[in-house]
Amino acid sequence: MTDHHPECPERLTKIMAHLEKQPFYDDLKKVQATKADRKWVEAIHPAGYIDQLEGLEPEHGLIMVDHDTALRPGSMDSIWYAAGAGLNAVDEVIGGDSRVAFCATRPPGHHAEPRKAMGFCFFSNIAIAAKYALDHYGLERVAIIDFDVHQANGTIECLKDDPRALVCTSFQHPYYPNSHWYGLPEHIVNLPIDEHTNGSFIRKAVHDIWEPALEIHQPQLILISAGFDAHRLDAMAQVDWETRDYAWITRWVQNMAYKYCQGKMVSMLEGGYALCSLPQCVAAHIGVFVGDEKAMMLSRVQQ
Ligand SMILES: [Zn+2]
Repeated sequence: MTDHHPECPERLTKIMAHLEKQPFYDDLKKVQATKADRKWVEAIHPAGYIDQLEGLEPEHGLIMVDHDTALRPGSMDSIWYAAGAGLNAVDEVIGGDSRVAFCATRPPGHHAEPRKAMGFCFFSNIAIAAKYALDHYGLERVAIIDFDVHQANGTIECLKDDPRALVCTSFQHPYYPNSHWYGLPEHIVNLPIDEHTNGSFIRKAVHDIWEPALEIHQPQLILISAGFDAHRLDAMAQVDWETRDYAWITRWVQNMAYKYCQGKMVSMLEGGYALCSLPQCVAAHIGVFVGDEKAMMLSRVQQ
């Protein structure tokens, strides 16, 4: 991105440095992402769009593809690895023996539409992973839970014609990207949040709005677009969640995953730009997964 852009490399370096200090770090299985197989990116994005992005990547300097989204030399590598991480994660959880995987990747993906890069996003990483789980592993139904502070316009646009994928997105409203509001199919479930709303609203709203949708859909895998920019310290928006709210919503998603799909979850990093809160939120998110894994192991030992 441009210099001093909020979607900066320090997001990942600070996340990784903070995770390394966590007591659970050694218990994590770390997998180096591989670049996405183009076949699966083309399942969401037209070949011409992919070629266009490849052609735009500059050898020097940067090219703006949207008013706040830029390509630099090497950007396409990151874009292919970020999409590939989602495929690797599905391989781990559906094709392997992991119960849950978190992808620490950038650029994010949930604003990218099939033919449009926008909002710091180029490929719809989560939609590509969902399509892979459905078409490669033969799942019949998946659900995407997106708790980023911005609406998942890209995920919606990529999957609005595929009712196998339930898309639940919470977001500050009215706010960027201000789209996909009217005439949506039943498998797209918007959950608007007023600005300056604390975490108590989401606790009730997911019960009233998302749980009935999940009950109807009966997902066989839950994918999470994990954006952490609703935090009160994140200047990207004006929602006032605390770090503990991310632990809470992670626990809620996990409960849903146990109810419908043996706890199977694939989580991918989306937004989250406050370097003072993003690492803590990610650690809280992963900590729920790991804590639960330890509790399960303990109960097995006790049995
Ligand atoms: Zn966001």
